[in-house]
Amino acid sequence: MKIAILTREADSYSTTRLVEVSRARGHDVETYDTLRFSLSVESRAPQIFYRAEPLVGIHAVIPRIGASVTFYGTAVVRQFEQMGVFTLNPANAISASRDKLRAMQVLSKHDVGLPATMFVRDQRSVLPAIERLGGAPVVIKLLEGTQGIGVILAESIEVAQAVVETLQWAKQNVLIQRFVAESRGRDVRAIVVGGRVVAAMQRRARGREFRSNLHRGALAEPVTLTPEYERTAVRASQIMGLRVAGVDMLESESGPLVLEVNSSPGLEGIETATGVDVASAILQHIEDEAVFPELDVRQRLTLEKGYGVAEVSVPRGGKLEGLTVASSPLVDRDVRILQIQRGSTVLPNPHPDTPLEAGDVLLCYGLLRSMKPFLVRPGHAHEVVG
Ligand code: ADP
Ligand code: MG
Repeated sequence: MKIAILTREADSYSTTRLVEVSRARGHDVETYDTLRFSLSVESRAPQIFYRAEPLVGIHAVIPRIGASVTFYGTAVVRQFEQMGVFTLNPANAISASRDKLRAMQVLSKHDVGLPATMFVRDQRSVLPAIERLGGAPVVIKLLEGTQGIGVILAESIEVAQAVVETLQWAKQNVLIQRFVAESRGRDVRAIVVGGRVVAAMQRRARGREFRSNLHRGALAEPVTLTPEYERTAVRASQIMGLRVAGVDMLESESGPLVLEVNSSPGLEGIETATGVDVASAILQHIEDEAVFPELDVRQRLTLEKGYGVAEVSVPRGGKLEGLTVASSPLVDRDVRILQIQRGSTVLPNPHPDTPLEAGDVLLCYGLLRSMKPFLVRPGHAHEVVG
């Protein structure tokens, strides 16, 4: 395969390893400076140029987009997607994961633990927000910080207010987060590749430091994740739409809390700490999946008038409970059940004989008009429309 690595750091450990492993597996691999691409946007003929030369024949792209070039970098990745080239992580997923607030908003709709977080703009909202989080200490974060820079522990309400005020004055957007004291100076990073945790480490800050970033001098050691941590890491990366991700989790009394989902996780720390060949796992995934480039389901499905995707819940005592997929009135009405979400398990492509249970959430495709009678009114968890 012809593989392109997009990076500003061709000599970094991560890039070097990806190049080395690609070559060893017989691929033709090159690194490209993300900022030296030009994009030609033309109807039906998206093209990409590298240093003014058209770049063609690429089978797979490995984006290593640093925080300083998110906008341009994701535009380049999106261009490859439009050209039908497989990209290891999709552009939209990279942008969503880069912004801590956006990432947490996306995750908050799902069964993934998160540290309680507030986002405020008005000065008068700061104190009520801190109180809602249970008071000081709280953690204050810049939306797009990395490597622990822009993460502050405010020990008192007064300090927290002053820090928020100062950062907002400097035109920075900030999050206020409950300080998870029982995980002080410690977190877990899991590397997920293609829906599987391939390596995990626990990081411990040194001395009085509360941030456990390796860039802040933390020490790392390998850990075997419990099924709960493993499931959380896999779910978080799936929800974010990332094929490869570094999922950071705090170890709270109530289980894993996802801090962030990194779309270009560094390989040095994890490979050194665990001895796992993460670069090869990534290349294996590319070899397995490169024939399946990113496909935006919504762009395709809404083309046909009246058809779409919706989630139908199965309420207790409702019309659907106890029926099977095949005998459900949905199927009669030209609706297909693509997937059943049952608690934390997912049944993809359910067999026609699968019984529908109360609490199931059915992902359906078909005529929206036909699904409408089965939809629950927002805010009325058990009331069924129609
Ligand atoms: P960055 O993107 O800069 O790594 P993180 O949100 O991952 O920012 O925070 C950096 C580190 O700070 C984490 O690895 C963790 O050790 C610590 N930390 C962050 N948020 C909290 C929190 N709410 N409670 C306790 N520790 C935290
Ligand atoms: Mg982090």
